[in-house]
Formats: sequence, structure tokens, C-alpha cells
Amino acid sequence: MNTDQNTDLSASLDAARRDYAALLERKLKLDLTRGKPSARQLDLSNEILALPGDRYKSADGTDCRNYGGPQGLPELREIFGELLDVPAGQLLALGNSSLTLMHDTVVHALLGVLPGARRRWADEERIAFLCPVPGYDRHFDICERFGIEMIPVPMTPDGPDMAEVERLVSADAGIKGIWCVPKYSNPDGTTYSDETTRRLAAMPAAAPDFRIFWDNAYAVHHLTDEEVQVADILAACAQAGNPDRVFVYGSTSKITLGGAGVAFFGSSEANVKWLLGHRGKQTIGPDKINQLAHVMFLRDADGVRAQMRGHRELIQPKFDAVRRIFAERLDGLATWSEPKGGYFITLTVPDGCAKEVVRKAAEAGIALTPAGSTHPYKDDPRDNVIRIAPTFPDVAELEQAIEGVATCVRLVGYEKLAS
Ligand code: PLP
Repeated sequence: MNTDQNTDLSASLDAARRDYAALLERKLKLDLTRGKPSARQLDLSNEILALPGDRYKSADGTDCRNYGGPQGLPELREIFGELLDVPAGQLLALGNSSLTLMHDTVVHALLGVLPGARRRWADEERIAFLCPVPGYDRHFDICERFGIEMIPVPMTPDGPDMAEVERLVSADAGIKGIWCVPKYSNPDGTTYSDETTRRLAAMPAAAPDFRIFWDNAYAVHHLTDEEVQVADILAACAQAGNPDRVFVYGSTSKITLGGAGVAFFGSSEANVKWLLGHRGKQTIGPDKINQLAHVMFLRDADGVRAQMRGHRELIQPKFDAVRRIFAERLDGLATWSEPKGGYFITLTVPDGCAKEVVRKAAEAGIALTPAGSTHPYKDDPRDNVIRIAPTFPDVAELEQAIEGVATCVRLVGYEKLAS
């Protein structure tokens, strides 16, 4: 560094220290950890609270008040079949959480023999999943819970690094799965290219029971006019001669009510039959009353699209605010994702700084998702990824919090440069 650069850096560091001291004085109490809809978003679905009213019969006359109908209501499966690219006959509408379905399919694969498998996963010597990083911590938690080894694979702008995925999956019969959030992924907003989808469907796999866990949580959660589409993975798998390779998941958690919506599972006929067989031991049928309420409220796929425009109106200004403040305050010091949909922004700070930024923010009363949680075993080897969840706070609170985060990044970043 020459003398001028040294002087600039020392001035920047002094300013960052003053800003941080002022931030501490403000004694904030703000939370950016939660990828949850705000109360105003939930208000969009208040009508559901009064549905289905005194109606209890589905389109085919089924009495939804009673047990039965393990696949879920056909009219709801029609609506979401169109949105999730799964034929309604191969889509199940089940409980309230897609995460539960992911957890349970892993458990059923551990304890029961999957179509195409030689034995239960629990009887294998070793089970591993590929984990594109950065990724969703709750996927990784499922693996950790059941002792499934996690192998990180880097994300590219087109999805996971497919050369690496193909190399690993074709050579290692212990690799039984890959976690995928194909659209507006959590946390970096990436959407898989058609080529990535095609290669995932067609690649040779050493394990005959290899599965893609296709968590399409943000299938309709657009933030721009460009409503990004992903290729139809189920059709691609069938075309490639691997019809049983993919499990598709989705839910209405961030369409209607978080935790009080409906979750979906879609797959080949063989996989659907396999799951229904196991679920038959767990439940005598899903909550069809809530499903009926969802049908009455959403009406059809266009009704879902209209509902999502309502969400976009409320949350796009929040994503814009984060982007604006980062551009004003962090240009040259950090980078951030510019998602076209979904719920998160990934902030990439200088290597070795993420934990310290999160710690400094916490001291200033701003809660951020713990650094490392975007990686298997909570270990981000470069310690540079921070997940920002802008949807829950109102815009004024969010702006305060993001200004505060920017102050912390400047302080930690300049301290690192000066060291
Ligand atoms: N999958 C992803 C990628 C998510 O980001 C989330 C919630 O943040 C979920 C699943 C949870 O979905 P559900 O509410 O249907 O369990």
C-alpha cells in the first residue's frame, strides 16, 4: 500500500469506528433473521380465516369433515400441479409444512426400501447428500439429525456446479441425494438453468436409489416483471430414463399463511405410491377442511398469481431498500445478490469477516442469521457469507437495521484491511 492509500484507509477506519460508536448509542433492537412473511403480507389472506364457512363438500361431493382422501383434494392438486409442473395425479396435497415432508421422506427412505433401492438407507454403510452452498440450513439440519454426511458443492449463477455434481454422483454409490432449491434459492436467489436441470435429470448415478430433493419453495414468489421459470424436472427425469429420480416439494406457507397452509409432494407414480404406503401408517388423511378453504380462497392458478402480486407489492420495496443502502455504503467492500424473487439476499463480505460482522451487529442490537448457517456443519470455510431476510420488519425498521449492518461491515472490513 502506498502512503495515500494508507491515509485513506486510516480515515475510513476512523469514520467507521465513529459510526459504530454512534450505532451502539442508539440501543436498537431489530431482527433480520427471520425469513417470514410480515403481518401485512398475512393480512392478504385474512379471508381464509372465515373459510370454508359452512361449506364442507369438495367438488366431487366428498365430506371434508371426515377422515380419508390420502392424496388431498383433487381441485387443490390441479391448481398447484400447474404451478409446480407436476401432473395433478402425481401430486399429493398433505400437511402444513413441506419441510416436514422432506424430513419424513428421508426417514421413510432410511426405514423403508425406496423404489429402485437394494436396501433401506439405514442398512447402508454410508449415506451422503450433496449440499449446494450457500444453502438452506434446515435442509442441512435434517442430514445432521440422521447422521447423513454432507458434501458441499459450490453454486454458480446457473445452479450447482454440475461438473462437480456429475463427477461425485457417478463415482460414489454412498451419495443418495442432493438438496436443490431450483428457483430464487435460499439464500442467494439463484435460479437453475434449463441445462442444469437437464443434467441433474440425466447424469449417471452410482446409487440406483439416488434422489433429487427439489424444494421448489419459491415457485411463484417473483420480485420483478420477469417471472423466471425453471425447466420441468419430473418430465426431464422421465425422458432421461430416470423417472423415479426426483421428489418435488412446495407449499403455500409464503402464499397464504406461514405454518397454516398446505404442503405438496410430487413425483413418479412409483414414488407417490411408496410415500402413500408409508403415510398410511402415520395418518388417516390430511386436513381437507384447510385444503377446501385454500381452494375457495385461491380459486385457480391465476388466483395464486394475483395473490403473489400482492406479496410482491409489499416486499419489493424492502429488497430495493437493502440494495440501495448496500450500494451507497458498501460499494467496493462487499457484494450482494440481486434476487428476482424469493425471500433472501446474500451479503458476501471480505473473507474471514462474516462471524465478526454478525457479532458486532448483535452488540448493536441487530440480530442476523448466524454466520456459517448457510453451510453444512455451520462451517463456512471462507467465513464470508451473511444471509439477510428483509421481509418481516417494516421498511423504516429494515432501513435502520441495514444501515447498521453496513456500519458493521465497514468497521470489520476496514479493520481487516488495516491489519
Ligand atoms: N424450503 C425452503 C427453501 C425455505 O426457505 C423454507 C422456509 O423458509 C421452507 C422450505 C419451509 O417451508 P414450509 O413452511 O412449507 O415447511
